[in-house]
Amino acid sequence: PSDTGRVLSIQSHTVQGYVGNKSAVFPLQLLGYDVDPINSVQFSNHTGYPTFKGQVLNGQQLCDLIEGLEANDLLFYTHVLTVCDPVMGDEGKLYVPEELVHVYREKVVPLASMLTPNQFEAEKLTGLRINSEEDGREACAILHAAGPSKVVITSITIGGILLLIGSHQKEKGLKPEQFKILIHKIPAYFTGTGDLMTALLLGWSNKYPDNLDKAAELAVSTLQALLRRTLDDYKRAGYDPTSSSLEIRLIQSQEDIRNPKVELKAERY
Ligand code: ADP
Ligand code: PLP
Ligand code: ZN
Repeated sequence: PSDTGRVLSIQSHTVQGYVGNKSAVFPLQLLGYDVDPINSVQFSNHTGYPTFKGQVLNGQQLCDLIEGLEANDLLFYTHVLTVCDPVMGDEGKLYVPEELVHVYREKVVPLASMLTPNQFEAEKLTGLRINSEEDGREACAILHAAGPSKVVITSITIGGILLLIGSHQKEKGLKPEQFKILIHKIPAYFTGTGDLMTALLLGWSNKYPDNLDKAAELAVSTLQALLRRTLDDYKRAGYDPTSSSLEIRLIQSQEDIRNPKVELKAERY
């Protein structure tokens, strides 16, 4: 356990707006981490807009960068941020080709120590339909069996409520310690929240390695303050916040990243 670290973060980059590395690097730096980003894609903007343009890093180009680091003995990371949020899709739509779901399931998930899927990603990875708390807890158990000792399903929509379910299997074969956080659903659609959430969960769970519930409370508290600010700013500008995907107010929320005020508490099962 250490309160800092060196993170290799392999995620998307957007010129404008905050998803992928653009929403993960800054908060981790604010929490005291050295972060080295590799941009798996460079797009003009996120895919929530009508169009986007840009480049995708291919496998050889990714290998080149890793080899360059290795040749200079620079591969001394404490954390790799990419496998722990299986960015696959949302709202019933895949961002990645269907064939890749199998690669995530068989090759990527077993390597991760922490996994932070949204509801749709958890369903794809487990084959379960998740419609209740019980389903969410069972999905976590299935994901533990595949490898990761920490699993956070970042949101399950039930009625007008978002439910976060966390699960920490402290030893293989033991029953995982599980908890939930109930989140009031803001009537708007944000992009980049999952990537920010994962970065914060990494940052806080490294500082509190035996308290995944505390790490989740801190991360959720930052998200709620930031999303409220985002919504207020759009409303003040006379913009209808339900009309399209909103850009998060990341830079304006730095105090909420450094010192989140915990209002939503985790409830242990
Ligand atoms: P992703 O963006 O990967 O689909 P989620 O939708 O689960 O991930 O978002 C991550 C976190 O962001 C949630 O745990 C929640 O705290 C917050 N969040 C996202 N959308 C909303 C919303 N509409 N209302 C309230 N909180 C939200
Ligand atoms: N990366 C890119 C380029 C995207 O366009 C998106 C979503 O639109 C994401 C990542 C994922 O964002 P989120 O954190 O909302 O899951
Ligand atoms: Zn996501």
